Amino acid sequence: MSAAPLPLWQDPPPDFDARLDAAVAAGLERAGGPVRVFFRDDDCGLPGAHFTRLIALFIRHRLPLALAVVPAWLPLKCGEFLAAVEPAGELVSLHMHGLRHVNHERQGKKQEFGPAREAAAKALDLSRGREILVRYLGARLRPVFTPPWNRCDAETLALLPGLGFRLVSRYAGAPTPPPGLGAVDLNVDLHTRREADPERAARLLESDLAAALASGRAGFMLHHRRMNDSAFSALDLLLGLLAASPAVRPVPLEDLAT
Ligand SMILES: [Zn+2]
Repeated sequence: MSAAPLPLWQDPPPDFDARLDAAVAAGLERAGGPVRVFFRDDDCGLPGAHFTRLIALFIRHRLPLALAVVPAWLPLKCGEFLAAVEPAGELVSLHMHGLRHVNHERQGKKQEFGPAREAAAKALDLSRGREILVRYLGARLRPVFTPPWNRCDAETLALLPGLGFRLVSRYAGAPTPPPGLGAVDLNVDLHTRREADPERAARLLESDLAAALASGRAGFMLHHRRMNDSAFSALDLLLGLLAASPAVRPVPLEDLAT
């Protein structure tokens, strides 16, 4: 399964490699100390060439990767999916990404776990998703919930601890979770940015990247289905720069909380 890559990755600026390198260097210098980095790849659960290629990249750079798995997709080709994950061993962890990854809102932003549905319907979907993942992943399942489109309502957040979730992972700026639930929100979006102009997208990505590293905590959101050769090549470069820096501390997503 794949979707159209962003304009940035269809037509990256010719000097983008050097600019990424400069943004990483500037961010690490501004941090002035250790920087924790972590990675989450969304919309997982089905095997495919992009997925296998992403896993291979993380194996090569020896960096941890959290996979956000859509429960309803997993049973379709579970054997092939797990075979693609297996070579990464402990580098890769698995957690829940919605139930079916569908939008239930009639207006406003897309949400699978938003205000359009009653709490009981959302609780049932959360339980169903968890049951599927426990059945197919067993002890490999981590107690993390990534809501589709990085957003869910307060009612859903309040349900999560009682259903066995310890952490919620969204994007920077998301509301604070209730007591009993940690947050591991991300702050660098590599593959689903909205800017139509590649140059503007490149500038904003460089600025997000430098700011995230400077803050001492950089969480990268990946979407393997939206990646093309340019996106893979830029990620390869980025992972290489991060893995080579003595200031960078790669951390599994599920080991972090704010
Ligand atoms: Zn998603």
